[in-house]
Amino acid sequence: MSQDRIERAADALRAGGLVVMPTETVYGLAADALDRGAVRRVFKLKGRPSFDPLIVHVLDEAQLKRVARAVPGWVRLLTDAFWPGPLTLVLPKRAAVPAEVTSGLSTVAVRMPGHPVARRLLRAFGGPLAAPSANRFGRLSPTSAAAVRAEFGAATPLLLDAGACRHGIESTIVRPVRGGFEILRPGAITAEQIAKATGRKVWSAGARTPARHPEAPGLLKQHYAPRRPVRLLAAGWRASPPPFRKGDALLVFQLGWEGFPGVARVLSPRGSLRQAAQKLYRALRELDASATGRIFAELVPERGLGPAINDRLRRAAGTTSR
Ligand code: AMP
Ligand code: MG
Repeated sequence: MSQDRIERAADALRAGGLVVMPTETVYGLAADALDRGAVRRVFKLKGRPSFDPLIVHVLDEAQLKRVARAVPGWVRLLTDAFWPGPLTLVLPKRAAVPAEVTSGLSTVAVRMPGHPVARRLLRAFGGPLAAPSANRFGRLSPTSAAAVRAEFGAATPLLLDAGACRHGIESTIVRPVRGGFEILRPGAITAEQIAKATGRKVWSAGARTPARHPEAPGLLKQHYAPRRPVRLLAAGWRASPPPFRKGDALLVFQLGWEGFPGVARVLSPRGSLRQAAQKLYRALRELDASATGRIFAELVPERGLGPAINDRLRRAAGTTSR
């Protein structure tokens, strides 16, 4: 990626415009986090409801201090271990962060991305960037430039194309709580990794905060959704498969299904959850484009990245319990 193009993108941001930014998780729709007009444009292009706050991306400590008031010493265990990387922290916000970014909350969700192009953009722009995934509200997140263009067509803002995203699934959102950390959204960093790096207690999503009192607004029951209806297949479905019809599509983790009458995708023949996460949205997009019936999606094992992948599949099906 030429420095020229990065500078052009930084100029667009300074003018209050939007830029599609590659990150290690998914492609983001970036705007100056401290410019409420620019932030409103993000909500408008996505069709995102104003109650769903954005994640702010920072280059370094200096940018972090511009948006977050205090980072408790013990929270440093987390940032030391995972920043730059796919971990988002919910911290007390500074007054400079417009209410539009945080949906009026007193906290701000922040992360320090590791993707080299995202970092070059943050450096050239010289300030924090608010960036949700670069897709229309409620739909599948984009993990390639083509997927972004499929979402916004001619309305696509300046796009920095850096190929496929490495993790392919959103960041893990963590809230520091008394005695440990609560995962608000499972993501590219697992609960086990957080527990190991910090030695603190980790509550998984939904375990500590009941669903009727959501601490992460915007985590909706139906989200990350293809256009075709999604039906989940639980472990053991192979013993009595549902009546598949022509035009249906099938998404499976490791093993295919002989004689499936439609298009099928296997996420990881070698059984790697990391690879499955990386390929998840792309496979769903492809199935969505070719299916005329339903998309059957097999839940993956609940270890490692499993909870994060299953969270997306359940929301895609609109059957999450949260
Ligand atoms: P994304 O759509 O990937 O940009 O993720 C944004 C999500 O982060 C929102 O839907 C919220 O669930 C969560 N989030 C953002 N800001 C906050 C905050 N201040 N407190 C709790 N959760 C937040
Ligand atoms: Mg999103």
